[in-house]
Amino acid sequence: MNLHEYQGKSILKSFGVAIQEGKVADTPEEAHKAALKLAEETGTEWFVLKAQIHAGGRGKGTVKETGSHGVVLAKGIDKVIEVASGILGGHLVTAQTSSEGKMVSKVLIAQDVYYPGESETEEFYMSVLLDRSSGKNIIMYSPEGGMDIEAVAENTPELIFTETIDPGAGLQGFQARRIAFNLGLSGQSFKQMTSFVFKLYDAYIGCDASMFEINPVLKTSDNKIIAVDSKVSLDDNSLYRHPDYESMRDKSEEDQAELEADEIGLNYVKLDGNVGCMVNGAGLAMATMDIIKLSGGEPANFLDVGGTADAARVEQAFRIILKDPAVKAILVNIFGGIVRCDRVAQGIVDAYLNIGGVEVPVIVRLQGTNATEAKKLIDDSGLKVTSVILFQEAADAVAEIVA
Ligand code: GDP
Ligand code: MN
Repeated sequence: MNLHEYQGKSILKSFGVAIQEGKVADTPEEAHKAALKLAEETGTEWFVLKAQIHAGGRGKGTVKETGSHGVVLAKGIDKVIEVASGILGGHLVTAQTSSEGKMVSKVLIAQDVYYPGESETEEFYMSVLLDRSSGKNIIMYSPEGGMDIEAVAENTPELIFTETIDPGAGLQGFQARRIAFNLGLSGQSFKQMTSFVFKLYDAYIGCDASMFEINPVLKTSDNKIIAVDSKVSLDDNSLYRHPDYESMRDKSEEDQAELEADEIGLNYVKLDGNVGCMVNGAGLAMATMDIIKLSGGEPANFLDVGGTADAARVEQAFRIILKDPAVKAILVNIFGGIVRCDRVAQGIVDAYLNIGGVEVPVIVRLQGTNATEAKKLIDDSGLKVTSVILFQEAADAVAEIVA
């Protein structure tokens, strides 16, 4: 589950990580009130207003309707309403969104932490994540933080450092010191950084995150180290341990088809390709996605209909796959071990007729108990469904369609 910046920061703060303080608002008037309060609490006179969407690159992004950027400085309390009006209610387009952009319904009003003494501030990059190849958590960091970390990774990869953390031993003092050293810090800010890194790692472990990305981590002109941005992903499988985090879920940011699938208990993940697939069993689903790629297509989704694969489920699965306009063909790949293939075939025929007007070609591969009867049932149905028994035949049929 991905969180908004303000939610991620609230988790960081609860673990003692120093953050750029802020308050969230839904309307320009609320934003003004929030700024007043923030000024009272922190003494800040300037504010930075930040669109809350699940995408990065907001600073350089543009709100379609108003031309405002997604992160804007308000130099004084009297500028807050105007700046907030430019951001709220519009669609923010960034390098990480579609060209439609994402609707902004919340804005974070944060204290300006760069002024005064902006020339003495430094922006770093830091992320904590699981490195699947080593099976360990890593802290990735760079002295070149700010808005263009992708460019840093591409042009000067030597400026991206990695610290690998042994899960048994946890983060060690020498590692935190090495990070602070590689970031070029000394004195007060060196100490601040080692403590920041420890708290950040604690937070990562403590909230069962799968990824933290803090860009920028800021060294202020008075040598404090604080998180200015936060991109936090929590491990969905751990949410039962954190009921308070579960309420942070913003369903409007999630894929609608995935949400619907979740509600009816289908294991569906939307992908960017053009061949929809419906499979029983996760392993077979992975193999099916591989064969789609080998045939020159790209899987449009992962979908495990589970063991039952009855008519109702097949129909629900079809409907969800068909919602994706990118789908050019559907490959159904079912192994009839627990279910009989002829029953699944009947389910497919029924679903096809029930939904009506299915335009995309459907290839059905049924293998296992009563596979031949199943093939006959589909072939005799008169529907525009290609039925095959061998995996290779399915692959060839996909290749022909996507060619
Ligand atoms: P992103 O563009 O979506 O990654 O959003 P960020 O929260 O990282 O903000 C983008 C940029 O805005 C940062 O890299 C900073 O350079 C700038 N920024 C953020 N907070 C402040 C602030 O308090 N004062 C000033 N002057 N700039 C800020
Ligand atoms: Mn950022």
